[in-house]
Amino acid sequence: DPIIICRDVHKWYGNYHALRGIDMDVRRGEVVVVFGPSGSGKSTFIRTINRLEEHQRGQITVDGIELTHDVRNIERIRMETGMVFQQFNLFPHLTVIDNITLAPIWVRGWTKAQAEEIAMQLLKRVGIPEQARKYPGQLSGGQQQRVAIARALAMQPKIMLFDEPTSALDPEMIKEVLDVMIELAESGMTMIVVTHEMGFARAVADTMYFFDQGQIVESGAPEQIFGDP
Ligand code: ADP
Ligand code: ADP
Repeated sequence: DPIIICRDVHKWYGNYHALRGIDMDVRRGEVVVVFGPSGSGKSTFIRTINRLEEHQRGQITVDGIELTHDVRNIERIRMETGMVFQQFNLFPHLTVIDNITLAPIWVRGWTKAQAEEIAMQLLKRVGIPEQARKYPGQLSGGQQQRVAIARALAMQPKIMLFDEPTSALDPEMIKEVLDVMIELAESGMTMIVVTHEMGFARAVADTMYFFDQGQIVESGAPEQIFGDP
């Protein structure tokens, strides 16, 4: 059964109809790429999955939990979904390792020692263990985004959501972030990625969805989308 089910999802900002009937099933381990023009509702869509935005019509079910007004359901879904934003959204006054361990300590109840051990493993996984005691402002954009990925992974999510994770990066830093995301995809993580990086999509997407004016107007495997023979 799909881990994410979206049925006829609609979202209005005031009277602006931003999502106009989104249907999407995501299997466990599936890597989904969402692409399309600016303003087409990609960010709004991905943010409805963990309730950063509220949909007003249709159904969203995540790992068997339906997104309703029930706050317990929203909290459970947020525990299962890691999110990475375009602007890394790190806490500037906390060191890298404290950024990563904050939620596991306070939300999961891990000891500081446990949380730091796991944080160090994650920093190795994203390739920057030597940056653990620095502050975000001392890191490059690519390094900060890798910290943001490690921070999301520290909560041991079942699903990772990426909202244009490389759009704020200088070109030379894009690859180091995409490489981490490719490794994550290959490890079997369920991912929805909003991105313009078509090389990434070709390499790891199982399914691509093209958004336009709040609707999915095209979907399929990368071979279909790119028209490969
Ligand atoms: P995309 O991610 O594809 O660029 P968005 O989901 O950010 O698109 O935006 C879709 C549309 O909804 C845009 O027209 C945008 O201006 C509008 N929109 C996004 N967020 C808000 C908001 N908080 N209030 C009003 N309109 C919004
Ligand atoms: P993106 O396309 O990368 O999602 P935007 O520039 O569309 O970024 O939006 C940046 C922020 O501004 C988001 O938080 C979005 O919700 C908000 N926003 C976008 N459009 C509007 C709008 N028309 N009215 C109010 N807030 C908006």
